[in-house]
Amino acid sequence: MLQLFIPLNALGIIYRQIKYTLADMDLVFKLLKQKPEIQDVENATDINVSKGEVKFEDVSFAYDKKREILHGVNFTIPAGKTVAVVGFSGGGKSTLVRLLFRFYDVSQGRILIDGQDIKECTQDSLRETIGIVPQDTVLFNESIFYNIQYGNLDASREEVENAAKMAHIYDFIEGLPDGWDSVVGERGLKLSGGEKQRVAIARTILKKPPILIFDEATSSLDSATEQAIQKTLGKISSKTSTLIIAHRLSTIVDADMILVMEAGKIIERGSHLVLLEQQGRYSEMWNLQRDTQGEDSDNNG
Ligand code: ATP
Repeated sequence: MLQLFIPLNALGIIYRQIKYTLADMDLVFKLLKQKPEIQDVENATDINVSKGEVKFEDVSFAYDKKREILHGVNFTIPAGKTVAVVGFSGGGKSTLVRLLFRFYDVSQGRILIDGQDIKECTQDSLRETIGIVPQDTVLFNESIFYNIQYGNLDASREEVENAAKMAHIYDFIEGLPDGWDSVVGERGLKLSGGEKQRVAIARTILKKPPILIFDEATSSLDSATEQAIQKTLGKISSKTSTLIIAHRLSTIVDADMILVMEAGKIIERGSHLVLLEQQGRYSEMWNLQRDTQGEDSDNNG
């Protein structure tokens, strides 16, 4: 009986691995609404990440050869630091994320992680090292427990609960009629944008990636939720190299470096205070957002 059990058990593990990998890729493609277009090079090696330094070196890119989108982009995220990218719509912010995740290969230049050109590495190992908290998290039609545990299927119940606490979603889950067994996703309980993003953060806490991409939701979250998300993000990003695509400048004033992108180029870079002093595009955007927020609160008040 035991002889029969062992191969069956092994089959179960293999099945789970395949399901996990397929689901993972499927999820990721849905997240970024992109199709995989690249192949691993022959003899591609697994990426070896020790510090987590990310470097864009003279990166140019075109989705379509006739129209170049990024033009010679250079920046570094030093290990453990946070770089935020801001700019008006269409400037190329999400394209940076797609290239770092290697949904496309750069047309020119290189993207290096700890000195390794990501073009030479296996896509699987690259994506293992990067955690993404997207704008709109896709949830599985499974329990909320599974949706969080998905970040690391070997995590214990206690670890999942702790991650939920850190992501400020624990009390919400405890308050649901079916608690941790509540089925979420398209066919289950619909969560708000902020709740979904906190599930994604809890997943990422479990995954503990050395590199983190946070794509801030464009839709406005209530300020308590936004602050909770920011606080948690601050905690996990303190030891993680983090790239934030930001829409609200108020959320990135503490970033180690802010890049302002326009028409596929970095037109300004520096800390919040340095950029404000420059009185260029960033300070223009800052004043614009401050005025709009003022109007909003006037209208609400
Ligand atoms: P937003 O703030 O609106 O998300 P963004 O700064 O992230 O904008 P990107 O999504 O990177 O901008 O887009 C940069 C440019 O690339 C845009 O002009 C867009 O039309 C173009 N683009 C984006 N995705 C594709 C695609 N799959 N095929 C062709 N062009 C694309």
